[in-house]
Order: sequence, then C-alpha cells, then structure tokens
Amino acid sequence: MNELTRRHLLGAGAAGLATAGWGGAAGAARAADREARAERNPPFYRSRLGRAEITIVSDGTIGFPLDWLFPEVPEAELEDFLAARYQPLDHLPLQVNPMVADIGGRRVLIDTGCGTKFDPTAGRLPRNLRAAGIDPASIDAVVVTHLHPDHVWGATDAENAAPVFENAEIVVPAAELDYWNDPDLAERLEGDLARSVARSTFSHLRRLDDRLRPVEAPGEAVPGIRFMPTHGHTPGHASLLIESDGEALMSTGDAVFHAFVLVERPDWHNVIDWDPEAAVASRRAFLDQAAGERVRVFGFHMPWPGFGHVARQGDAFRWIPEKWVWDG
Ligand SMILES: [Zn+2]
Repeated sequence: MNELTRRHLLGAGAAGLATAGWGGAAGAARAADREARAERNPPFYRSRLGRAEITIVSDGTIGFPLDWLFPEVPEAELEDFLAARYQPLDHLPLQVNPMVADIGGRRVLIDTGCGTKFDPTAGRLPRNLRAAGIDPASIDAVVVTHLHPDHVWGATDAENAAPVFENAEIVVPAAELDYWNDPDLAERLEGDLARSVARSTFSHLRRLDDRLRPVEAPGEAVPGIRFMPTHGHTPGHASLLIESDGEALMSTGDAVFHAFVLVERPDWHNVIDWDPEAAVASRRAFLDQAAGERVRVFGFHMPWPGFGHVARQGDAFRWIPEKWVWDG
C-alpha cells in the first residue's frame, strides 16, 4: 500500500476505513449538502418474493481506492475496463443495501450497514427504516452474512453502547463467529487497519453477546432463509437462499460485491478478500449457480436497489439489473 493510500485509509483514526478517502476530506458544508440531497431521494424499495414482502432500505454508500483494492491488476487494464463501463477511475463506489424480509411469520433484517462508525456517506439505515415505516423494535432477527464493519457495526448505536434492534436475535454463520469472536485475533493480523477492524468488531460482538446465535452453513438461519457457504471473502462468509411460496432469491452477501468488476472479472484478486483463491472459487460457484438456474439475485453492494440476474458471458458472467416495479 503506498503512503498516500495508507494515510487515506488510516487518517480518520478509529473509524478505520472511514476513511477510504472519499468524502474523508469533505467539509461540513459539503456533508450537509450531501445529506440534503440524500433526503430528496427515496431511501427504500419494496418488492415481493412469493408471500414474503421484501424492503430494501439504504444505509448509504461506501467506497474504496482502486489502487489499494486491486494491487495485482495492471493499472492500464483496470482503467480500460472501468472507463468502458463509465465507472470512476480512482475509487470503487458501493451501495450498502440492507434488506428487511417479512417472511415465515417473522421480520428479518439482513445485514445492518455500518452505523455511523465507518464512512460519513453511510450509517443511514435507522433514519431510512423510519422513512419506510419500519420500527427497529419490530425486527425479530438480524441475519448477518459475515462480520465486516458494513454488515454488522450497524447492530449497535453510535457509541457501541446498546443494540439498535432491541428485540432481535443476531444470527451469524458459526465459522464466521468463531473467527472474529476472539480477543487475540487482532494481535495475529498484520497492519493497523486490519487490527483496528478486528478490535472494533470484537467489541461489537461483546455488546451483542447475549443475542448471538451461530448457525452452521449450509443450514437454516431462520424459516425461509438458508446460509449457503461461500467462504473466502471472510473465513465463514455465507450467502443466502431466500424462498417463499415456490419463489427463490439468491443473496450474494459479499461473495460478489461489485456488478461489473467481480461479475465480469471474477478471477481478479482484491485485498478485502481474506483468502483470494477461495473467494474466487466461491464467487464463481455462486455466479455459475445463479446463471445456470436463472435465479433472481440480490446484491448487498450492487447498484440500487440491488436486484438482478446473472448471465454467462464467455468464461465469465454479466449482471443484468431488474427493472423497478412500483406496484409489485
Ligand atoms: Zn460489504
């Protein structure tokens, strides 16, 4: 990691990836303007899956510097790829799309977003839940695909003092919980950023301890939602298969966290993946199943609101967004 990128990443101190640069330098006026603009856009989107009602509720966006994220990909190749798809050339912006599923008689939140502890452009889930008419106290279960900050830090308040979803159990893939729920993990990791994230995630898990429920993957997380093991992004990462009344939806988690780069170039390594080779294998298996079975797909970091399909393209794939339906 070059020194400039390192400063971007660590410059915001405890927030760690907060960091990641964009927005990091924005002044208060720019932040206020961003908030005002965000409030003019609809922050939630409703859809159906069989008898289940699904509401995608935005937590905002996050972003990562490209030269840090894909160090093994030649710069010219990366720029050509992104320019051809009208993407920014300096950073990779990602939507953060938590899902609320009213399924199997329960109200389930899938991944929590970052809270206000990670990136100034994220942490909007509580406000946007209110906009959607969803009381955080009405959430029965939070299903977490993995324990990275943007998927679980939003489970506690800004001070990490209390759970946000006061009546919810937190369902986590068992191998994922084993890895992060370890007071000595940070000491075994290399780099200030990784250690900072590990320490903070451990303290979040301590705060949530009495409500954590580990579930082996593959296995049923809650009725209607199954963990599909897709380790590699993290040691116990799981994607989800959501089913209701004969309809199915495969939810990526972060096995595929970008609609162009990781779908069309699934073999490119990125530095966020804990085990890049295992991540490539899981990503390819997920995309191959989605394309082969023509299953509807949801991506936590895909372009809003995150629904689409995967089609084969040569020896890779492409993302086909689903059209918005207002009266579904
Ligand atoms: Zn993520």
